[in-house]
Amino acid sequence: MVAPSHRRSLRSRRVLVVSAAVVAAGVGAGVVVMNANAGTVDLYHQTLAAKDGWASSGAGTTGGSKADAAHTFTVSTRAQLVKALGSASDKAPRIIRVKGTIDANTNDAGKKLTCADYAAGTGYSLASYLKAYDPATYGRSKLPSGSQEKARDAAQDKQAKNIVFKVPANTSVVGVPGTGAGISGGMLRIQGVDNVIVRNLDFSATEDCFPQWDPTDGDDGNWNSNYDSVTLRGATHVWADHNTFTDAAHFDTANPKYYGREYQIHDGALDITKSSDLVTVSRNQFTNHDKTMLIGGSDSEPAGKLRVSIHHNIWKGIVQRAPLARVGQVHIYNNYYDVTTVNGYVTQYSINARAKAQVIAEDNYWKVPVGGKVAKLISSDGTGSVRSSGNLVNGKATDVVAAYNAASSKDLRTTVNWTPTLTAGLEPSAKNLPASLATTTGAGVLS
Ligand code: CA
Ligand code: CA
Repeated sequence: MVAPSHRRSLRSRRVLVVSAAVVAAGVGAGVVVMNANAGTVDLYHQTLAAKDGWASSGAGTTGGSKADAAHTFTVSTRAQLVKALGSASDKAPRIIRVKGTIDANTNDAGKKLTCADYAAGTGYSLASYLKAYDPATYGRSKLPSGSQEKARDAAQDKQAKNIVFKVPANTSVVGVPGTGAGISGGMLRIQGVDNVIVRNLDFSATEDCFPQWDPTDGDDGNWNSNYDSVTLRGATHVWADHNTFTDAAHFDTANPKYYGREYQIHDGALDITKSSDLVTVSRNQFTNHDKTMLIGGSDSEPAGKLRVSIHHNIWKGIVQRAPLARVGQVHIYNNYYDVTTVNGYVTQYSINARAKAQVIAEDNYWKVPVGGKVAKLISSDGTGSVRSSGNLVNGKATDVVAAYNAASSKDLRTTVNWTPTLTAGLEPSAKNLPASLATTTGAGVLS
């Protein structure tokens, strides 16, 4: 993963440029800094810029910028975060400043909770579960049912009640600079609400204590987990900016295997499903993760939604879904994909366009190691579209879709049914992205 940087962001560089102009006007240097700061909207009140991707359409995305003092919170514990989020039906604008790392697996008194704590009283044990649903005796034709599955479900509910944070409409959740702000082990659920900003947060270790066995998933069955670090379900106008997403400190290589299949405790990093719409995902770092970003949770999501812009992000040590796009109009530009294997995370593909997704992938940069296959950067079920232009692989202009189509029988269409207009900040060349994004993305670079 890219080391966190303490260099100033582009935004503060612009402030410095203003300062220089004031210096030129003859104002003393000490005064300059104060003037520059006074004229800057603070991090917590910032809103998505005009024309910055799909989330800027219509009324735009302002989050909690209009919050009054009674709805402005600084939180450092799980209990404080829950209190600040209030009721899901309360639409009053609110700003939640997260100071330091909040461990979602703690109780109201701040005591650490383990998987055993959630399982207590439910009758669940992994050993009993494995015995009950062993394909050798239970077979592979039906989902687990019976007392151990009921117990697993009850234990999972207990963990969910603790680690899932419901974000109401008109909210900004923003990390306080310099505090290592983030949420460990939790899921922000943005569901059925409009106008949310999530910025400058380090999301790590979102883990399900109680994965479910599904013998019918794929040829050999799979263990599936329940939590994304941030999940959007039927959400509109959401801006996710300058966050870091990582499985650390437990990487998938440490997952055991049961029934011959990986016991996967992670789900998505940032999933955008159930007719979510008008989302901008900018300047994040996605690292050390498998199923990173779903856009659309099934092939039967209705048409007309799932419009997402994804720009200036780093994707490094990602196995798949960067993103997996279904149905919607998705603009992917100025991203840096480093598909070198990191901590055992081997890239299967970066972008998947299926279920008639209309994807534009332009001016992105892929770093592909020696022996890596350019044809495998893209994937599809044969119904999606990806219009590709300006993409570079190891600095060389490359039509990543043509490379995929030449090697696959499930060809992508290379034209799309829309033209992006909300493209402020689109850089016409991907050449400098590896260097520029290293210091301007992820949690911890905003000031
Ligand atoms: Ca998910
Ligand atoms: Ca082909």
